Amino acid sequence: MANDRVYNFSAGPSMLPLEVLEQAGSEITNYQGSGMSVMEMSHRSKVFVKIFEDTQNHFRTLFHVPENYKILFLQGGGSSQFSMVPLNLIGKTGKADYVVTGNFSNIAYKEAQKYGDINLAGSSADRDHTYIPAQDQLNLDSGASYFYFCSNNTVYGTEWNYVPETNGVPIACDMSSDILSRPVDIDKFGVIFAGAQKNMAPAGLTVVIIREDLAGHELPYTPLMMNYQTMIDKDSMYNTPPCWCIYILGLVLDWLDNLGGVEVMEQIKGKKAGMLYDCLDASKLFTCCAEKGSRSDMNVTFRSVSEDMDAKFVSEATAAGFTNLKGHRSVGGMRASIYNAMPMEGVEKLVDFIKEFDKNN
Ligand SMILES: *Cc1c(COP(=O)(O)O)cnc(C)c1O
Repeated sequence: MANDRVYNFSAGPSMLPLEVLEQAGSEITNYQGSGMSVMEMSHRSKVFVKIFEDTQNHFRTLFHVPENYKILFLQGGGSSQFSMVPLNLIGKTGKADYVVTGNFSNIAYKEAQKYGDINLAGSSADRDHTYIPAQDQLNLDSGASYFYFCSNNTVYGTEWNYVPETNGVPIACDMSSDILSRPVDIDKFGVIFAGAQKNMAPAGLTVVIIREDLAGHELPYTPLMMNYQTMIDKDSMYNTPPCWCIYILGLVLDWLDNLGGVEVMEQIKGKKAGMLYDCLDASKLFTCCAEKGSRSDMNVTFRSVSEDMDAKFVSEATAAGFTNLKGHRSVGGMRASIYNAMPMEGVEKLVDFIKEFDKNN
């Protein structure tokens, strides 16, 4: 780690691999002899079209996206998808199933109610979103146009460790905070979307993976820019795509590939999260917020014996170079976001710091 950098546990935007930042820096004024920055290029230029296509192809191979799925590079953030998913998919039957396991799925659930008849197919609100409902706790409607869930709950620190069985109802999934951290059986999904700023690239890019046959059935008043078919027809270039973010995503994919891809990342992230949870479980001062079996490998939420102690921990951690550990305002306590780019060393040092703090307080 460059010694002027902190260990940044921000929930998003979050750390990018140092190698990626350094490479982007080295070609920031002149990309590979083009005489200009990627930020200054026409999105229709040969140079940029190559970056775009290479990144799209690399994403497909690395994340094992089958040919009958389109990979879209859009703007609008993960939150725009809360509207785009119902606008494009609910037309089939006018109904959809939603599971609410945290704040982002709750926003999506409320937004979808504008467009159709929404069934609350499951919720973890009864225990403050500290767990993920099991398959037999889900109340599925076989007439739903789609089933919606959020695979990792960034704020509460819970993560689905299974893909629900929906008996043929297409699944729409918000993977904003755990995409590319593990292999995913894409065939089980209809639409996967993710804002880039947690695990992929700077904010401004939203990746959508959509089974091709699901597009083209949007509600008649769907805005042009929110219609998946518009973007499929023009390969995400109906208008100017988020060029710089796509370029950085390409560098991140190279970095991930060099590490061994999502299969190796699954082991690395499991090891990082395991170390942190073990240390918290063994401490006298701290407790984890999420229930065992539902804990997120990306966002580790925990609290100490009091709010004063939480504040002391966050302040001493910050001074020691571990930043952004304060929990989300709706949960309190602490949250260590340990996405793909957080090095093992960062988690090891945080574990040492927690042990020391536990001993001294
Ligand atoms: C961050 C986040 C969002 C919101 O993403 P934006 O790009 O800010 O709209 C949605 N869902 C999840 C799971 C997130 O972590």
